This record gives sequence, structure tokens and C-alpha cells, in this order.
Amino acid sequence: MPASLQHAVTRAMKGRDGAVAVLGISDGALLARHRPDFMKSSEAPPGSAVKPFTLKALLRTGVPTALCRRTLTINGQRLDCSHPPASEPLTAADALALSCNSWFAATASKLLPDLLWREFNAAGLTAGVARTRDALILQALGIGGVQCSPLALARAYRRLALDQSKPEPQFAPIYEGLAESVKRGASIAAGPAVLGKTGTTRDGAWFAGFNNAIVLAVYLFHGTGGAGAAPVAGEVFAAWRAASR
Ligand SMILES: [Zn+2]
Repeated sequence: MPASLQHAVTRAMKGRDGAVAVLGISDGALLARHRPDFMKSSEAPPGSAVKPFTLKALLRTGVPTALCRRTLTINGQRLDCSHPPASEPLTAADALALSCNSWFAATASKLLPDLLWREFNAAGLTAGVARTRDALILQALGIGGVQCSPLALARAYRRLALDQSKPEPQFAPIYEGLAESVKRGASIAAGPAVLGKTGTTRDGAWFAGFNNAIVLAVYLFHGTGGAGAAPVAGEVFAAWRAASR
């Protein structure tokens, strides 16, 4: 199985610059990878791929609700929503599925900075405590004040995958949102029976996600999460399905 997975990763990354980590969910073993140097040590802001962890912090404090205002500017950075119009108000699961920046900015701005920092730290992401409201929002959106390597993000998503079987109904919107993101959102290229999330920043493009057996993180130095990183993940998940038939 690892040989065919490694082959799929190498094939999917042909002509692309970036790094990939594929782990087994049950034991965390590294099953396949691309560019081990970057996979382990190159840290970059994860963009919207961090939103499941932001949502986890939000869900600890209650049931967050907000409207999508479509436009968002923080510190002079335009961070407008790119998702199609949706019925309002957005639930937590919808906001994650649509990757609604406006919703996450509105809800996260009320979080205690310490709480978000603790959530990110527990997930193994590199972060500090945000000192201003703008810094808190940028951190919640994965744009600034938080970084990770592809391996660290794969490990963080592995914890999400493992926690899915725990009886913690307050976190159900995270899994609903990740499933919907792949069914009808930006992560659609990751393929069937996958839960995951894309991220696109000035630094690069991400996809992180899992099926019932493997978890992976894809980081590309160029392009977007939806058009670049998610299709790489789709090829790897397809190879896993073909090998486990
Ligand atoms: Zn929105």
C-alpha cells in the first residue's frame, strides 16, 4: 500500500512545486511524502485550512452565529468572501463549508486571544497570543500569527480525524463543514468520502483532509487550494481507494 501511495504522490506532484505528507490515521505512520525537507521544516501560514481549529475554539464558548457581509478589510488587506451567495444566517457548518471570511472574522473577533492560541498550540501549530483585534482576526483566518509545516498540518488533521469518533456533539459542525467543503465547496477535487479544507494565501496553496484511513496535507508554493492543492489530494485519495478495493 505505501508503495502505490508514494507512486501516486510523486505522480500528482509532477511539474508542481511543493510538499506533501500522507499519514495513517490509526498509528500516525508516514506512508508517503514529497520533498521531505519542506514537508518537515518549511513553515507557512495555513490560510483557511486553519479554520477547523478556529471553529473548535469558537464552539467551546457556545454556538457562534454571524451574517456574511461579503466584504472584509483588515489592516488594509482585502479579504472578501469568494463563496457563492448563501441563505442567511450561516450556521457554523455552513461557514466552514463556504470558508466565509466575514463570518469567521465577526465571530473570532469576540474570542479571548488566549483561547485561540491554546487551540492552535494543542493542534501543534506555531502561534503566539494575538495582541490586537486585527491580529486576532488574521490569526483566526490563518493569514498571520500562525504557521505550520505540511507535516504539522497533517498531524493536526489526524487529531481531528481521531476525535471524530469521540462523543463530543458540540464539535459536530466541524465534521459537517469539512464534509460539505469537499461535497460542494472549494475542496471538491479531493474526491468522494473525504473531509477536508483548502487554504490560499500570498505564500502558497493548501489542502488538508482525511478519509477513513489516511490523512494528508498538500502545500504548493503557487496557485490556489481549490485548483492546485485539492486535485493533488484527489489523486492520492483515488490511489488509496484503488489499492484498498
Ligand atoms: Zn462570506
